[in-house]
Amino acid sequence: MNNIAMYMRISVDENDENTEESINSQRNIIKSYIFSSEELKGAKLHEYIDEGYSGSTTSRPGLDKLLSAVKNRKIDCIIVKDMSRFMRDYIEMGNYLENIFPFLCVRFIAITDGYDSLTDGTNGTEITIQFKNLLNDYYCRDISIKMKSSLKVNYEKGRYVTGNPPYGYIKDPDNYQNIIIDDVVADNVRYMFSLILEGKTLSQIAKILNDEGILTSRARRKELLGYDSYKGRCDSTAEETIWCSSMVRRIVHNEVYTGTYVYNKSSKSKLDGGKVIYYPESEWKKIYNHHESIISKEDYDSARKMLKSRHRKHLSGNRVYESSPLVGMVRCNKCGYKVRIVATTDGNKVLYRNVYCQHCRLLEEEEKFARLDIFENKVFEILKSNFHTDEKERQKLLNKQKALYDENDKLDKKKLQKFEEYKFGKLKREEFIKIKDKLKIELENNLKEIEEIDTMLKKAGNIESLTKEMVMKYIKTIYISSSGIEKIDYI
Ligand SMILES: [Zn+2]
Repeated sequence: MNNIAMYMRISVDENDENTEESINSQRNIIKSYIFSSEELKGAKLHEYIDEGYSGSTTSRPGLDKLLSAVKNRKIDCIIVKDMSRFMRDYIEMGNYLENIFPFLCVRFIAITDGYDSLTDGTNGTEITIQFKNLLNDYYCRDISIKMKSSLKVNYEKGRYVTGNPPYGYIKDPDNYQNIIIDDVVADNVRYMFSLILEGKTLSQIAKILNDEGILTSRARRKELLGYDSYKGRCDSTAEETIWCSSMVRRIVHNEVYTGTYVYNKSSKSKLDGGKVIYYPESEWKKIYNHHESIISKEDYDSARKMLKSRHRKHLSGNRVYESSPLVGMVRCNKCGYKVRIVATTDGNKVLYRNVYCQHCRLLEEEEKFARLDIFENKVFEILKSNFHTDEKERQKLLNKQKALYDENDKLDKKKLQKFEEYKFGKLKREEFIKIKDKLKIELENNLKEIEEIDTMLKKAGNIESLTKEMVMKYIKTIYISSSGIEKIDYI
C-alpha cells in the first residue's frame, strides 16, 4: 500500500466544527484507523475534501480530483468514514465498488460500515476481483511458460545461456553460447582443489588465498566486464577483494570444473514475484564433456568426499548455528563485513551465543565482541525507547493533532473576519497586515506540528519483544565493535 486517499465531506447543514461529522473529526477517525494498521500506516496520505456539497451529487471538486487521481493510478486505496460520505447514490456507489475500483486495482474502505473491498464478499466485488486476478495470473503464466520453453531448448543444446560463467571460465569470444578456460585464474581453481586434497579446511584455504593476494571472483568479473556486476547486490565493497570460506566452498562444489554442464538446478517462477524453486539433485540434468575441464573427475570426487567426511565431524561437535532476530544485519565496524553467529551448546541446550567477524579472523585482526544476548537486549531497549507507542498514547497524539486542525480552522475564520473589517474600513491597512502575518506564522507552526505528529504515528508501534519482523521494520544495519554498538542505520 503506497498511496492512500482520505476522502472527507460535509454538507452545508453539517458545517459546524462541533458535530461528529466535521472534517476534522472524520480525519481523526480515518487517521486512527490508518495508524493502527501495520499494513496501512507506512503509506503516503493524500487528502481530498468537499465542504458544503451534498452526497447525492457526484460532481464535487474534491471527489473529482480524487477520481482523476485514481484514473491516473496515483491512488491504491480510498478510505472514508462511511459510505454515505462518498456517495448517496447507491447504484452509482455499487458501480464504483463492483466495476471501477476493482478494474483500477483500488481498495476501498468505509470504516463505520465495516467495509473493506479486500475482504468483503458482498456487492459482488470479491467475484470481480477474483476474476481479474484470474485473468492476471493466466496472462503471467502464459508468458512464463513461453520464456521457460525457449530456455529449455537452449539448455538441451548445451548452450551456456545463464548469466556469467563461473570463476575460471570465460565466454568463448567466437561463440557466446560456449565457455572456455580463463587462463588468468584457472590455476587458482586447481590450487584450491589441491589444498582440499592436502587436507586443508575451507577457512584455511581462504586465508592462504588472501595471504597470497589471489584475485577473487568478484574482482575478476569486474576486470572482464569493466564494471562491478555485484554492485547493488552486496552492500559492502569489502567482499570484492577478500576470500571467505563460503566462496571457496562454492567453487570446490561446482561440477562445472570437470567439464560437465549442469542445468535444471532451479527455476524462477514469474508468478509469486519471481520466487526461485530449487530442484533436488536427482532432477538435475547433466551434459558430460561439454567444455574443457579444469579438474579431473577423480580429483573432484575425492575433494567432495573429503569435504563430506569433515562436514559430518563438524555436526557432531557441540557448536551449532542458531538464528537470532539480528541475523544478517550486524556488521563489523572495522571491516564492514557481516558478522557470524555461533552458538555453544551442551549437546541439547544452547548455553550461549557469540558473534565474530570471519573476515577479521582470517586477517588475524579479530576483535572480541560481546555476547549476542547483550546486543539483542541493547537493540530491544533502543527500539522500545524510540518507537514504542501504545494505543492510549496513539489516541492522545491523534487528539492533539485534531485540536491543532480545529485551531487552524479558527485562525482561518479569524483571518477572513479581519479581512472583512479591513475592507469595510473598520481596520487600518497596517494593522490588518500585522494581524495577517501573525496569523500566518501561527498557522504554519501548527501545520509543522501536525506533520511531526504524522511522522511519530507512522513510526510508532507496539514493541514488546525483539522479533525479526520488528527489527527489519526499523533497522537496516547495526555496526558493532569490541566496545559495543557503534552505529545503527535506520530504515
Ligand atoms: Zn571485521
